[in-house]
Amino acid sequence: MKNKSTHYDTVVVGGGPAGIATAMHLGFHRLRVLVIDRKTSPMQFANTPVHNYPGIKPLTAPNKILRKMRKELREFNVETLFGNVIKLEGQTPNFQVHVKSRKPTPTFFTAKTLVLATGISRKHPKVNGDWKKWLPYAAKNHMSYYCPDCDSPQVAGRDVVIVNAGTVKSALHVARCIKPFAKRIHIFMTEDSYAPFTKESETILKQSGFEWTHGLIKEIKILEPGKRQQLLTADGQTLECNTFFVAWIGIPRSELAVQLGIEVDDQGNIITDNQGGTNVEGVWVAGDVRPMTQTVATAVGTGVYAGIMITHFLLASD
Ligand SMILES: Cc1cc2nc3c(=O)[nH]c(=O)nc-3n(C[C@H](O)[C@H](O)[C@H](O)COP(=O)(O)OP(=O)(O)OC[C@H]3O[C@@H](n4cnc5c(N)ncnc54)[C@H](O)[C@@H]3O)c2cc1C
Repeated sequence: MKNKSTHYDTVVVGGGPAGIATAMHLGFHRLRVLVIDRKTSPMQFANTPVHNYPGIKPLTAPNKILRKMRKELREFNVETLFGNVIKLEGQTPNFQVHVKSRKPTPTFFTAKTLVLATGISRKHPKVNGDWKKWLPYAAKNHMSYYCPDCDSPQVAGRDVVIVNAGTVKSALHVARCIKPFAKRIHIFMTEDSYAPFTKESETILKQSGFEWTHGLIKEIKILEPGKRQQLLTADGQTLECNTFFVAWIGIPRSELAVQLGIEVDDQGNIITDNQGGTNVEGVWVAGDVRPMTQTVATAVGTGVYAGIMITHFLLASD
């Protein structure tokens, strides 16, 4: 970081598309901005092309889009720091930001305003009881898809096994979204899912009309990525398909908001007004951590909106 002062107009927590979009808008208005990011955006890891973001044809992989967005930040003199924000306190115009970083940089900053663009964490299915064993198949080489809003058309003409790590509701949402596209759909309800499988879940599945089974994943075999894949269960079933579609459970990263006294709903989503403002003056929220905004376009949209509102707020305060 070139500038020695650690006081900013805005500190943005989270450098995914939402945080970057906010920071870019503020940098464009010559405000002093710092983006702090621990680099776990799904856009860094997913390599299946993005279809639903306007203006990026030929289709581009999410990691390339994110790299390009980060590069563009420099044109607006936005400062960035790789680190983990562990504590937020204070109030406008003197919020205090505590960071843990492996690099020998300052770990304490102050800011007139804050943006929380921390995203959500997604729970992956477990293979032989361990979710980390799923990671080699997570959103890579068309082996598995995660976002029914973004990826449903990608399964056109394919045999799909929906691997459910969440609720029956999320499995059925995926099934209904991909139904117009997929050749065949089988819902596999994992017994070690993060949501309980109840008698009611069973009734709902039976009435849904979708083919389904219930069990524990023992092993995944990728015979040809995105073409021939197998899911082997503890009780000896083999489910073969072209691709998996994960129905997951999402946990909003709202711990920092709670530290500041910001209201969250019973799912942990940060409660905002329609402009991304919170009940704490000077703090805005953007991207997936707001309820139901899980696409790149909506993350960028809510990010720019927060940027506009902060610019207005700071100009009025000055
Ligand atoms: C596999 C997969 C494929 C997808 N494909 C598409 C697609 O094709 N099209 C589409 O529109 N959307 C897609 N999405 C959704 C899209 O990636 C998200 O909607 C988008 O990334 C949300 O942006 P965000 O900035 O809100 O959050 P994120 O991208 O999650 O970024 C949040 C950032 O905040 C950081 N952070 C969190 N807490 C802290 C902290 N305390 N300190 C420092 N940093 C912190 C994280 O490390 C992360 O880098 C996909 C998602 C997945 C999982």
